[in-house]
Amino acid sequence: MKAIVVRQTGAPDVMRLETVPDPQPAAGQVLVRVRAAGVNPVDTYIRSGAYARAAGLPYTPGLDAAGTVEAVGAGVTAFKAGDRVYTAGALTGAYAELALCEAGQVHRLPDACSFGQGAALGVPYATAYRALFHKGRAVAGRTVLVHGASGGVGTAAVQLARAAGLRVFGTAGSEAGRKLVAAQGAHEVLDHRDPEYLKRLMELTGGRGVDLILEMLANVNLAKDLTVLAQFGRVVVIGNRGTIEINPRDTMMRDATILGMTLFNVSPAELASIHEALFAGLENGTLRPVVGKELPLAEAPRAHEDVLKAGALGKIVLVP
Ligand code: NAP
Repeated sequence: MKAIVVRQTGAPDVMRLETVPDPQPAAGQVLVRVRAAGVNPVDTYIRSGAYARAAGLPYTPGLDAAGTVEAVGAGVTAFKAGDRVYTAGALTGAYAELALCEAGQVHRLPDACSFGQGAALGVPYATAYRALFHKGRAVAGRTVLVHGASGGVGTAAVQLARAAGLRVFGTAGSEAGRKLVAAQGAHEVLDHRDPEYLKRLMELTGGRGVDLILEMLANVNLAKDLTVLAQFGRVVVIGNRGTIEINPRDTMMRDATILGMTLFNVSPAELASIHEALFAGLENGTLRPVVGKELPLAEAPRAHEDVLKAGALGKIVLVP
């Protein structure tokens, strides 16, 4: 099969399209024919060699894919050849024509969902769900600011929060991004490049602030977030690319909570529950993953450059 292979960590061009042996499913494993692979920022951190979780070399990048089941190993009864599925994690990497997975990493893909949409689920939707409901304790009637709502995690968070009955504020840095965020169901959309946008947020909440903030760029926003939180408010740090100085006093009168998270810490049982919830939302149409760009597999280096640029409009996927 053709697969992207990384033989040494470094710049995007360390990713090369190679011909490698087809993987074979052992007991408890599922082999997926990949029709689309999702490109996540974390794939770029791992490829660069700078991430806390190093990959063994050589390796094929990618956690998220969608396609059809090619074959199953002994003991796998939940899937059969031909089933439409998406993956959340893969033993051999998703940037390939075939991806070998543990059965628990594979989930049913509703007929209404395209393969591109399926490749947008694993990391972004599971992260948004985890942040909103497990860490953020979101409940209907409360307010949430999705701080960076135009990308993979943000669009998912807006759809999930809206479907759960929250009042949703979302931000984007471009006109196209703001239109996209509004289309996902945000009640109010703000421009995180406008110096006055958090003042506007306070006006829109009658001076109260928001109950929950899902933060995609904490090194830029965390100090400001603490000033627009309501009493007992929570900030969930999803994304961060540097350091920041905060005033801890801003947490005190509000009894505020700052929570970090990584999807890698979610237990298998919690993940299984999250993906059941995602399936329900995909099936009833409240969750509609947004594919911003489709590129051929060989263009993985370009995809890694693009996914770190501003102006995200949903998900970048690679098509083998
Ligand atoms: P993405 O698709 O590239 O989206 C990035 C988002 O950040 C866009 O909405 C972008 O908006 C927004 N952004 C840019 N500048 C911003 C600012 N000053 N304030 C607020 N938002 C800003 O990436 P993603 O997949 O959604 O992931 C978002 C972040 O979460 C990444 O850093 C990623 O590594 C991290 N992440 C963490 C976990 C975890 O387990 N903790 C899981 C998944 C992702 P514009 O482009 O419109 O400006």
